[in-house]
Amino acid sequence: MRKRIIILGSTGSIGKAALEVINALGDEVEIVGLAAGNNWRLLAQQTARFGVEQVAIGAESGYDGLKRDCPSGTKVFAGTAGVAELVAESEANLVLSAIVGAAGLPATLAAAERGMDIALANKESLVIAGSLILPLARERGGRLIPVDSEHSAVFQALQSGRREEVRKIYLTASGGPFRTWSADRIEQATLAEALQHPTWEMGPKITIDSATMMNKALEVIEAVWLFDVGPEQVDVLVHPESIVHALVEYCDGSVIAQLGPPDMKTPIQYAITFPRRVPGLAEPLRWDEIGSLNFELPDFEKFPALRLGYEAARRGGSSGAVLNAANEAAVERFRGEQIRFGEIAAVTEEVCRRHRLIEQPTLDELLESDAWARQEVNACCRR
Ligand code: MG
Repeated sequence: MRKRIIILGSTGSIGKAALEVINALGDEVEIVGLAAGNNWRLLAQQTARFGVEQVAIGAESGYDGLKRDCPSGTKVFAGTAGVAELVAESEANLVLSAIVGAAGLPATLAAAERGMDIALANKESLVIAGSLILPLARERGGRLIPVDSEHSAVFQALQSGRREEVRKIYLTASGGPFRTWSADRIEQATLAEALQHPTWEMGPKITIDSATMMNKALEVIEAVWLFDVGPEQVDVLVHPESIVHALVEYCDGSVIAQLGPPDMKTPIQYAITFPRRVPGLAEPLRWDEIGSLNFELPDFEKFPALRLGYEAARRGGSSGAVLNAANEAAVERFRGEQIRFGEIAAVTEEVCRRHRLIEQPTLDELLESDAWARQEVNACCRR
């Protein structure tokens, strides 16, 4: 069946890679909707280039420019609600959810509500509201197909056995730019240093999350939701080469890993063409150049964000929403050079510690917890 896809976050790093992948797939995929946060100029170009009929811009201020630059007859939505409306009104059967951060949640929920398959790059939506999205998708018959490289790898490795045969899931981590630095030096790292990822080219927010290892913390929670395992079954392995993306250990001791070049086009394409595989755009691995693959355990002292991820995964309820929102707000402050690198995790931890857990939160309670955490970060930073 021909895939009719909506790309949420089409002007970001994942969205742009997805357009390249879809362009190469040809007639197999039709883009029926595009949405972006702010960059209405690029969104208008993409709309014209791919002949898309419905588009949405998250920032209301972008509406006039987008409307003017899109081909006439294009239906244009605006605002966070407008992005969700685009999903709710469309006839898509697959949604690529690649808006960064909590902002991606409403549209992801709308896709689950409609029973569409969701190619999920927006890990934050599961971290915040996995307890709502998973049952909703199941009830409405939509599948969640991970795009995050580690989770795509787990998803692929899980096809070698049954869920109840899984003993452990290992998510690999490059270790980020500060893997070999001392704790003191990490504390003082500059914005430019945090933005230099050793192996992956990604957007700024996730690159900073990789430097603190909060990205891996969020991925642990994401894995718990996606694969229905306990946090004690998910381990992190530092693997500086970023070739092995994840490993699944089965009860008989066999380990199935997925390997590939560190190029997001591969997991994006797999999520779109699943369950089929078709020729891809990434350069094949060169084993003679790789030589050796290394693994080490993560340093929880140097990267306290990782511990916060496990704590939130164990506590459940509203704690993922608070962890994510506090981190987003702290990263924003760091990007504005208002706090030091070491303070990102410290402030996030402080806010998580003050939060009063809601065990079975509603969507409104999750959104309130999110807003509360952001205010608390501001209060912490003022002191
Ligand atoms: Mg990842």
